Amino acid sequence: MVRLDKNKSFTEDKSIESLPLPEKVFIPLIQHIGRPATPQVRIGDLVYLGQKLASSSSTISTSVHTSVSGRIVSLQDWPHPVLGKARTIVIENDKKDTSLFTPRSHEQIDRLTPEEIRGIVFEAGIVGMGGAGFPTHIKLNPPKSIDTLIINGAECEPYLTGDYRLMVEKTKEILKGIELISRCLRAKDVFIAIEDDKPEAIKAFNHGLCNTGYGLRILRSYYPQGGEKQLIKNILGKEVPTGKLPFDVGVVVHNVATAFAIYEAVYFNKPLYERVVTVTGNCLNNPKNLLVRIGTPIRELIDFCGPLQKQPFKIIIGGPMMGIAQYTDDVPVIKTTTAVILLDREEAALNEEKPCIRCGACVKECPMGLMPCLINLVSQKGLWFKAEELGAMDCIECGLCSYVCPAKRRLVQSIKRAKLEIR
Ligand code: SF4
Ligand code: SF4
Repeated sequence: MVRLDKNKSFTEDKSIESLPLPEKVFIPLIQHIGRPATPQVRIGDLVYLGQKLASSSSTISTSVHTSVSGRIVSLQDWPHPVLGKARTIVIENDKKDTSLFTPRSHEQIDRLTPEEIRGIVFEAGIVGMGGAGFPTHIKLNPPKSIDTLIINGAECEPYLTGDYRLMVEKTKEILKGIELISRCLRAKDVFIAIEDDKPEAIKAFNHGLCNTGYGLRILRSYYPQGGEKQLIKNILGKEVPTGKLPFDVGVVVHNVATAFAIYEAVYFNKPLYERVVTVTGNCLNNPKNLLVRIGTPIRELIDFCGPLQKQPFKIIIGGPMMGIAQYTDDVPVIKTTTAVILLDREEAALNEEKPCIRCGACVKECPMGLMPCLINLVSQKGLWFKAEELGAMDCIECGLCSYVCPAKRRLVQSIKRAKLEIR
């Protein structure tokens, strides 16, 4: 793990602001790991805020909901921040926010069984909001018994501050979400993991944890501290073996923003139709943490934080280490969008790729103990079985190998390609 220049000062002290409602939203049928959802509305339909637009289509899938009330105007291919393009439902916003939510009483919530909580989470379309996008109802029902729940508030990627602000501003609500998760998992121990560069969040949770029985674990600010396997190793001293998942060692990890979404779904019957996005970078005059409706084009977020100080060379969705550079600002915010980062040419540091000098830096820094230079070599020759033998599937795509490589080899990109080919 390495210490990175975090660049969080752009937004870490900025309270979460709501972005004004967009004229149109673009809701992709796939915003999660797994199969796309199946549409259950038609062009011309009137929809209310939070209405289900498409249902889960297989075991690993989830539903999607509208983030505005209004009229469905099309179902078409549209730019997607992860997949390039995807089938997308377009809705014209009537700006009335007509909704049919009925909040639950405390008595109703106290009586909910784990099965019922999972059902609510499933119906709300909640996915891992740290960027992974795995459907949450599945992680609330692991196939093996769990003894430890870790709530991930590390937010170790540079520039990102949405989770930090959520932890500071919504501490009680996140704790209620954690209580619901631990009811589902029946975990014996619950730990909340926060990096030591987030003093206000540590203060808020130190105060909020009284009488909960949960533990606070303050981690040193290193990258990639927030990876599930790294958290488990650092907090519990347990290694998740190659090819295994956290539940294989009796642990489940959920992100703080996911805990907050679970709280909103259970207490207010609110589906996942908005999220906090950090809009930042050295090209912006007014970087912010924004509460944004899913489906809002990122152009509207950028305009709201403008005017631009300088022309961006690169727009990244997600963090600079694991995020994805975008080819258009038409792409919408989806459930896994943690940030929109605008970088100038210098910050983007897109240097020319040179031959490997066999320095071993990538091997030394890889948190998964892989040999990225070798996986890169065999992947370039299309030897996918060799890449698999070298453990490509264990790569957590943290980007550290590319970051430390003096030859600027595109290591993580070639390993991602190898993983796709192996799958
Ligand atoms: S090989 Fe994968 S896990 Fe290892 S440093 Fe590179 S991106 Fe991270
Ligand atoms: S860090 Fe770059 S130059 Fe060094 S061994 Fe790895 S791929 Fe080669």
